[in-house]
Parts: sequence; structure tokens; C-alpha cells
Amino acid sequence: MSAFDRTNYYLRRASDLMKLGDRVERLLIYPEAEHRFEMAIELDNGELGLFTGYRMHHDSSRGPMKGGLRYHPSVDQDDVLALASLMSWKTAVVNVPYGGAKGGINCDPRSLSPGELERLTRKFVQRLGPLIGPQTDVPAPDVNTNAQIMAWVMDEYSRREGFTPAVVTGKPLELHGSAGREAATGRGIIYVTEAVCRDSGMPLEGARVIVQGFGNVGSHAAQLAEEAGAKIIGVSDISGDLLNPEGFDMERLLPYARARRPLAEFDGGQPVSNEELLTAECDVLIPAALGGVFTKELAPEVRARVIVEGANGPTTPEADEIFEQRGITVIPDILANAGGVTVSYFEWVQNLQSFRWTEEEVNQKLHATMTTSYQTISRVVKERNVSWRTAAYVVALGRVARATVLRGL
Ligand code: NAD
Repeated sequence: MSAFDRTNYYLRRASDLMKLGDRVERLLIYPEAEHRFEMAIELDNGELGLFTGYRMHHDSSRGPMKGGLRYHPSVDQDDVLALASLMSWKTAVVNVPYGGAKGGINCDPRSLSPGELERLTRKFVQRLGPLIGPQTDVPAPDVNTNAQIMAWVMDEYSRREGFTPAVVTGKPLELHGSAGREAATGRGIIYVTEAVCRDSGMPLEGARVIVQGFGNVGSHAAQLAEEAGAKIIGVSDISGDLLNPEGFDMERLLPYARARRPLAEFDGGQPVSNEELLTAECDVLIPAALGGVFTKELAPEVRARVIVEGANGPTTPEADEIFEQRGITVIPDILANAGGVTVSYFEWVQNLQSFRWTEEEVNQKLHATMTTSYQTISRVVKERNVSWRTAAYVVALGRVARATVLRGL
């Protein structure tokens, strides 16, 4: 099943439950536009580098389209389309006035110098031309992209259109980024994790947490979980996986990981395989790397009480069904990791008003948004007796479908 089919599987399940009908369902599934670009840049060694980039516009019925830029060798049309669709549902779950988009470049950024990355990013923005803009499509960071790359996006766009910080979010603070944006996805994950743990009679304080992926999302989620009293007993990145039943010393691990050093060489844990990490006994498991990690083979072995999807699309439909049968609570990506797009929205609002909020204001508003969204979906879980994923899709589809129908064809 392709990544886009996986997302649509979840969508159809909720749509059937809501009896939306074939006409609306088709309008919700199909993207508005799919853009693909071939880009040539000069590499540092004088050779030609050829790259393929994508920007998928999924739905704009509720506002300008919003979604990250991913730089990774796995980026392809199907992957980006699935991620764009997820963005439409995610922005609707947290009720921010956006639609959904996603973009990316098929490349291995680890093999590119900063100069090459800058040239490639600028070329991408040139190709995107009027497809992005503060009222049309607003990109943001995702896997292997960061505040520096967003600064280049803003600069390249502003060269043509005049100074326009609201064209992209996740920018550095010095260039009108928002306080709290960098940690926002991880922070939102922990707000939701605290709530679900509390409601399951298992406080986050003292809970054993495993985090797969230790980049922007995973490292902040781990840090904030530990600050909330949890014990981080498993971590991983692309270099390897580590377990430590006593809990990692985060004061040592965080600066180590943020210096971009490989976790496989960290001396505070026991090296294990990726499968061993994901199937180790724990209270909360937070996948925060790439999609498709929970397969039907792995799902029966998972020994977590709660899974909180930091990554986009980590669970295949077969695995999702197994988790449901086994009574493992799964907080879906479109709720769990929506803190990032929520603070991206706050950044955009600040940029449009040329006004700055404090980090406390941002975090307070993020907390309010995540809590309201969690409670709304929790009510649907109880009322309809469905999983958290189905409930989240019911809320999201309801909002997007109403906007679509009201606007007309
Ligand atoms: P990142 O590039 O900062 O970090 C990715 C991490 O995953 C790195 O530590 C990398 O080493 C690790 N990784 C990659 N392949 C792995 C593997 N096979 N096994 C274990 N670890 C692996 O990316 P990020 O921004 O933290 O994004 C992580 C996930 O969260 C993605 O699925 C992304 O779509 C999602 N997400 C990100 C944001 C955001 O604001 N950045 C918002 C919502 C969702």
C-alpha cells in the first residue's frame, strides 16, 4: 500500500462512519495540484548536481496551504502527496485557518555542503515562483530542514517580492521567527502525552518513555518528557539505537545530540537493534523519525501502553488494527505532532502584524490549542466508541468537508 493509500484508508474509514458520501469523499481525497521540478545546481567540485523537487497542494478550502519541506533520499511523489494530505487533516484538527501542502527534494543532505544546500534551496524557491506566498502556500521545516534553510527560502522569495517574512515559518528569531517554534512540535507532543497518561490513570511522572528519532521533534519531546518527570529509557537516531533501563542522563545526552554527534557512539546506554528498541517494554513510545515503522510484523511485538505519533505516518493500517485489537492507545500524528503547525500559525500571525509575542505567550496559546483539540477528539472517541485516529479524522473531515461544501465547486 502506498503512503497516499494509507492516509486515504484512514480517511475512508472516518468518511464511511460519517456517511459523507462518494462525492464529498472524492473532493477530500484528490489533491488540488501536484508540482514536480527538475533542478540543476553547480556542486563544489564543479560538477553538475541534478535534483528532483516536489510541492503538493492538497487542499485550500480552509485557508492558505501549509506544510513542511523535507530533504531526504526517500522523498518522492507518493510520499509528499501523503504528507500533504496529512497536513490538511492536521490543520483542521487544531482548527488553524490553513489547508494542507507538503514539499521536498530528493537528496541526501549529509552529502551536500552548506553552499550546495543553499544553492539548491534557492533554486527550489525560484522554481516554486508564485506557487508559494503568505496567502497561498506557506512552507516550514521538516526532516533535514531547519531555520537556516527557512531563512534562505524567505530571502530568495523576498528578493523578488520585497521583504516577506510571512512566506515561510520556522525562521531564525533574528528573521522574525517565533519564540517557541523550534521546540513546539515536541512540546505539543508532551502536552498531549500528559493528558492521555492522566486519563489512562498512568501519570507521565515516573513513566518509562522510548523515543525513536532524535532530531528536532524527538529531542525536544524527550527533553520535555524528562522535565515532566518521565524516565527516558530508549533513544535512537539514524546511526543506531540505545536502551538504558535506569533512564538516560539527559544533561549529558542532549548537548551531545544537539552537537550532531551520532547516538550510536554515546556511552550512556546499551546498543540494540531498531526492532529491539521499538519492542522494548515501556509506558510511552514516541516514534519521531520517518513513516511506515510500525508494520503488521512488528505491531504484535510492541510492548508499549501508549504510542504517541511524533512522526508523520509511522503506523501502517494493518499495524493500526493490531494495536486497536491489543488495546494499545495510539494518539495519531494529526493530533500528536500538530504543535509544530500551531506555532507556525502563530509565527505567521506575528509576521502579518509585524508584532512579537513572548515565549510564555506562545507556549500558553499552544497549550490551549493542544488541550482543546485533545478534548474535542476525546469526546468523539467516547461518543462513537472509536479509536483516537478515527476520531481525529472525523473531526478533521467534518471541518474540511463543511468548508468545501460551503465554498462550492
Ligand atoms: P529531523 O531531521 O530534525 O530529525 C529526524 C531524526 O530521525 C534524526 O535524529 C535522524 O537521525 C532520525 N532518523 C532518520 N532515520 C531513522 C531511522 N531509520 N531510525 C531511527 N532514527 C532515524 O526531523 P524532524 O523535524 O525531527 O522530523 C521527525 C518527524 O516528525 C518526521 O516524520 C516529520 O515529518 C515529523 N514532524 C516534524 C515537525 C517539525 O516541526 N519539524 C512537525 C510535525 C511532524
